[in-house]
Amino acid sequence: MNEDEVPCTPLSPEEVRPDFPQLNRRIGDYPLAYLDNTAATLKPRQVIEAIDHFYATCPANVHRGIHTLSEEATDAYESSRKRIAAFIHAPRESELIFTRNTTEGINLVADCWARRRLKPGDEVLVTVMEHHANLIPWQIVTEATGATLKFARLHPSGQLDLDDWYSKLSERTKFVSMPQVSNVLGVINPVKTLTAAAKAVGATVLVDAAQSVPHMPVDVVDIGCDFLAFSGYKLLGPFGIGGLWGRYELLDAMPPYQTGGSMIHTVTLEKTTFADPPQRFEAGTPSIADAVGFAAAIDYLTNVGMDRLHQREIELSKYMHERLAEIPGLRILGEYFEGKPGIASFDLAYAHAHDVAQFLSDEGVAVRAGHHCAEPLHHEFNSESTSRASLYLYNTEAEIDQLIAGLGTVREIFG
Ligand code: PLP
Repeated sequence: MNEDEVPCTPLSPEEVRPDFPQLNRRIGDYPLAYLDNTAATLKPRQVIEAIDHFYATCPANVHRGIHTLSEEATDAYESSRKRIAAFIHAPRESELIFTRNTTEGINLVADCWARRRLKPGDEVLVTVMEHHANLIPWQIVTEATGATLKFARLHPSGQLDLDDWYSKLSERTKFVSMPQVSNVLGVINPVKTLTAAAKAVGATVLVDAAQSVPHMPVDVVDIGCDFLAFSGYKLLGPFGIGGLWGRYELLDAMPPYQTGGSMIHTVTLEKTTFADPPQRFEAGTPSIADAVGFAAAIDYLTNVGMDRLHQREIELSKYMHERLAEIPGLRILGEYFEGKPGIASFDLAYAHAHDVAQFLSDEGVAVRAGHHCAEPLHHEFNSESTSRASLYLYNTEAEIDQLIAGLGTVREIFG
């Protein structure tokens, strides 16, 4: 074994927990057990300090001023783009557009790419497991263009029915969009294989990576897709900022999403020519401090190591699923599989998901209740709502035990 092959040490939550001030909180008499990471993660002090440092030193506007503070702000903003692009292995940093979130990235592609190309007879293929962010833009765009929206179905296990997916892919398929990881089922879709098949029929492919980029190594070149969207606040970063990666040739062929300052080449009273990507898609003053915080989060994850993070999460996910299986009357949407990410959406035969979340909160456990912006998926499982426990690098076995104890209380009261 040469030096490069020395196995990395497993990630221990104790290594990272001191970085998260929120973990010192108590909820009533209980320590906080934050198990709502699919919705939003906690923030390490390195991210908070990076944002604080930006405001304390150079809170000037970017790309405009020829003065020190503006130059420093521009450097901070563009260096953030570079580090985030490198994290997903983008061939060019100019392929990374700052958005508000995954939703905005998908809408941008639906509007600026798909809407301009789709026509009656064309098809867009998505799946039944979509988050609304990767469903509604395609409903709107197919309705506006006369194209048809198709849905690949799921097996009862929650896995994508690949036979059904392939049967719906044809020469008519012009756009394919899919999640890499489901925010409800924790299912990991074989996006590389599906992208290759979609490209073979000439379709353009978007990957909704909101739940994959934070939790596993993601390489856009390896996947082979055309667009990939994700959010900063789901990977230790601030709210209000996300990333859309797109192949440069495609971005360059797209019109702007919004217009105004910062996205122009030349303007006369009658006509405007637009800047090259990524500026073409970043109209107006951007969220500079949030971009800085986003990159600080990426640096943090890079230092931890995404392979280590992923392995730790899989291990803890197994423990969570084993413990949840002990609770009578508890059903998890989607079957457990080896290597399942840390997501368990469950319902209880005797208590409503909102009551469950409330009783758990009373014992310090933060989970989410509802349909998690995946209403059609819940209907597929004859469910209106579930409680969802979801993990990240700082979570511990003790916090899972706290969840199980809380579910014991729910059972005493409702069961
Ligand atoms: N796609 C998936 C799979 C998600 O889990 C989410 C958010 O939870 C989104 C898209 C939308 O993300 P955002 O609200 O950051 O736009």
